Amino acid sequence: MTGETEKQAIQVVHPQLFIGGEWRDAEGGKTFAVEDPSTGELLVEVADASVADGRAAIDAAAAAQADWARTPPRDRGEILRTAFELITERVDEIATIMTLEMGKPLKESKAEIAYGSEFFRWFAEEAVRISGRYSVAPNGATRLLTLKQPVGPCLMITPWNFPLAMGTRKIGPAIAAGCTMVVKPAGLTPLTMLWLGNVLAEAGLPAGVLNIVTTSSTGEVMEPIIRDPRLRKLTFTGSTEVGRSLVEQSAEGLLRVSMELGGNAPFLVFEDADLDKAVEGAMLAKMRNIGEACTAANRFIVHESVAEEFSTRLAERMAGLNVGRGTDDGIDVGPLVEAKQRSKVAELVDDAVSKGATVLTGGSAPDGQGYYYSPTVLTGVPLEARLAKEEIFGPVAPVFTFTDEEDAIAMANDTEFGLVAYAFTRDHARVIRVYEGLETGMVGINQGIVSNPAAPFGGVKASGFGREGGAEGIEEYLETKYVGLAW
Ligand code: NAP
Repeated sequence: MTGETEKQAIQVVHPQLFIGGEWRDAEGGKTFAVEDPSTGELLVEVADASVADGRAAIDAAAAAQADWARTPPRDRGEILRTAFELITERVDEIATIMTLEMGKPLKESKAEIAYGSEFFRWFAEEAVRISGRYSVAPNGATRLLTLKQPVGPCLMITPWNFPLAMGTRKIGPAIAAGCTMVVKPAGLTPLTMLWLGNVLAEAGLPAGVLNIVTTSSTGEVMEPIIRDPRLRKLTFTGSTEVGRSLVEQSAEGLLRVSMELGGNAPFLVFEDADLDKAVEGAMLAKMRNIGEACTAANRFIVHESVAEEFSTRLAERMAGLNVGRGTDDGIDVGPLVEAKQRSKVAELVDDAVSKGATVLTGGSAPDGQGYYYSPTVLTGVPLEARLAKEEIFGPVAPVFTFTDEEDAIAMANDTEFGLVAYAFTRDHARVIRVYEGLETGMVGINQGIVSNPAAPFGGVKASGFGREGGAEGIEEYLETKYVGLAW
């Protein structure tokens, strides 16, 4: 892709705040830089919101709430459906913007756009299925009516790794339920969300329903919104560390809270697994989004009888991947999002090697500009290695071994996290023992990807609480009201 085409792609984005249906500069015209991780060069300057700008956004969301809650469900659903179609029509435009700010190859951006836009289609359909209950009280004297109403204004804080989908998974159900919102995309990747704001406005979303705030003073600008008595819900996707402090802040207003936090996914390969499928699944579970996914397989726990063959085949596949700039043709692996992220990945690999792990492929960062790290497979990794406990968030596959099923499940559960686990086996009785024994919110059996807009996404333990997608997803944005009816 030429530099000229790239510049044109960025120009369709308003690098401003979106508040009350208008694009506006931040207080004092302040901006911060968004860079291209494949070169480290400036892409564009984006509005840098102040505390007062943040307050204006929650003002707008609060002002729009009552009318929006009264808007017919079909109308809310139609806006989502139109936005889904606009995103689908403009996939090339948004894929280029996403790749430029985040680094992943265009095909990965397109996969995220297909996934992320589906939340709008799914919740367009859910908007008209919000229902209640009517029943006779057990003593027959009264009637019990149960109805659902929107929670109210929401704050949505999203990470950089899926700049579209982590937003649409929250915005879709909030629009369907009749909630207004303030969205704060990650500072590293705000352009995709600004683009989406425009699309939703074009699809007919009324002013004030969605407000977008970009800022480099994140904690300072977010905390007053979280403590604002008009806010009713906080939904966050990001690191466990930040999530913990946001839960504390939200205690003051007793907010409804959803937390989609970090992961440390085990990927179990049993001795009876179909190894072709297991290697294929491993590539997907590890390399989707360059390993920068909360669902990324972090620990490959493989039966000792098949560990060598599995590791060798995985290493061959990893070594065959093309590393390069995401906007170039035929690229499988782009740069990591920033220098800090790459240093962390390198540190984890060096630590494992210093403790006895063997590098089958990769194990270092290639020379030259951009935050690249070579796809890596490590074997003989000791359990004391840091990457057994910490989220890698990069293209590194460490292989651990086990001898019996119970030990494998215990190893899989030996982490503070509990987002997702994968298991490959052809034994049906084992399948049930394994999925019942794993302490995670999601399990993939003989498949390396679980994300699906029609299914409830979310974790347990330090991976958080609340579910996004599926029938459960809209419930996060609805309150239940009970009316006792007498006559
Ligand atoms: P992060 O540092 O926690 O940032 C996530 C978001 O929180 C960003 O928008 C960030 O803003 C904001 N933030 C940071 N400090 C804040 C504060 N004090 N108050 C309010 N907001 C604050 O996480 P990340 O590095 O972007 O994302 C990677 C993490 O997300 C990984 O741990 C990954 O597992 C997790 N993740 C989880 C899921 C899931 O569904 N479970 C999905 C994707 C990612 P700035 O960008 O301005 O700092």
